[in-house]
Amino acid sequence: KTTTVPNVDGSINNTEEDDEDDVVDLAANSLLNKLIRQSLVESSHRVEVLQKDPSSPLYSVKTFEELRLKEELLKGIYAMGFNRPSKIQEMALPMMLAHPPQNLIAQSQSGTGKTAAFVLAMLSRVNTLELFPQCLCLAPTYELALQTGRVVERMGKFCVDVQVMYAIRGNHIPRGTDVTKQIIIGTPGTVLDWCFKRKLIDLTKIRVFVLDEADVMIDTQGFSDQSIRIQRALPSECQMLLFSATFEDSVWQFAERIIPDPNVIKLRKEELTLSNIRQYYVLCENRKDKYQALCNIYGGITIGQAIIFCQTRRNAKWLTVEMMQDGHQVSLLSGELTVDQRASIIQRFRDGKEKVLITTNVCARGIDVKQVTIVVNFDLPVNQAEEPDYETYLHRIGRTGRFGKKGLAFNMIEVDKLPLLMKIQDHFNSSIKQLDPEDMDEIE
Ligand code: ADP
Repeated sequence: KTTTVPNVDGSINNTEEDDEDDVVDLAANSLLNKLIRQSLVESSHRVEVLQKDPSSPLYSVKTFEELRLKEELLKGIYAMGFNRPSKIQEMALPMMLAHPPQNLIAQSQSGTGKTAAFVLAMLSRVNTLELFPQCLCLAPTYELALQTGRVVERMGKFCVDVQVMYAIRGNHIPRGTDVTKQIIIGTPGTVLDWCFKRKLIDLTKIRVFVLDEADVMIDTQGFSDQSIRIQRALPSECQMLLFSATFEDSVWQFAERIIPDPNVIKLRKEELTLSNIRQYYVLCENRKDKYQALCNIYGGITIGQAIIFCQTRRNAKWLTVEMMQDGHQVSLLSGELTVDQRASIIQRFRDGKEKVLITTNVCARGIDVKQVTIVVNFDLPVNQAEEPDYETYLHRIGRTGRFGKKGLAFNMIEVDKLPLLMKIQDHFNSSIKQLDPEDMDEIE
């Protein structure tokens, strides 16, 4: 059976895919993060540093001036609106710019200034008098490579003699062309092709090698091996840098294989907590009933903005249509949209153009919309074994203790799902109060 529902833009599509849960695509998430990012992400933790030579002095900088950069590079940094190095940059930049160059493995969540740091390192190491590739940066996708390239272009705006080129599929270079650009950014497959098959890049002349988004990279079939083949052909004096937003064992193992004698920098993520969230649940008979409860809540309290999570695309669509028919301004964010479309929906929501955002699991992470006052689990997050998905619950509802404001969370629960909710309550050791949707006065 297929259903026909209008999309938010009025168009119609009915696919069996509507029934699918949205799967998390690491590269797409990373790109989305970049597209919607407006400022640095803060962390109250200290940067952990592991030096390859613990006896050598450890430098950190509080200003960009201390780095003795080329004048035009410093101008580029200020033109981007950077006043001072981010937490991770304070430690990473002196290491990256040291003489002789040092290798580095750096891990911190997205938005903490890693890209800006290695772009700065690449730009500062280019010899503008030499017209051949000197810096090579590997990225997991075409789009992510372009994003990094944009940062090179912005930061290097005043470095007029430095140029970037993309080694990505679709960028056809005629036979016999001499590549004169100093910075190459590309995906492993195409870079490999350009280096070994087409001989467009001479790897023995590369001074800085960057492997960005290592966690996304190892998630893609073949990329680890291709990256290692490239790395093996680099000269021993080439500086090697690896960045990752997360650091599971698999990333670490890969990092150690590909980066010899590294310094290691880590910045722990701000933990999410439920302690500053008041959580409620409403017992419901069925989907219609859940919707009614939602309307009551919506009518009963003054809401700034709300995010409503559904388990499936189909439910999310259904709810969107219901709410629109009742005259609410809502938008739907789901996995079938392109990353650009998602970014623009999130942006509109942030700008307050819509009050309600309905979404599936894809978007549970990474959206940080400060003005959201309530989060609704229209469906509880469960995993394939139909057990509660605690991590997703925390990501949907939790906030960081230090930077987050107080929030309200509502769970719409069918009676048979009540045990799941109780498990969640026990797991987090936090209370979720029952609410009579007819009586909003209960909300403190
Ligand atoms: P990451 O690579 O860790 O995701 P980025 O380098 O992309 O982080 O930086 C995240 C955001 O913060 C970007 O918008 C970037 O322009 C900005 N940014 C980076 N470094 C600084 C800084 N020192 N001061 C202010 N903003 C910065």
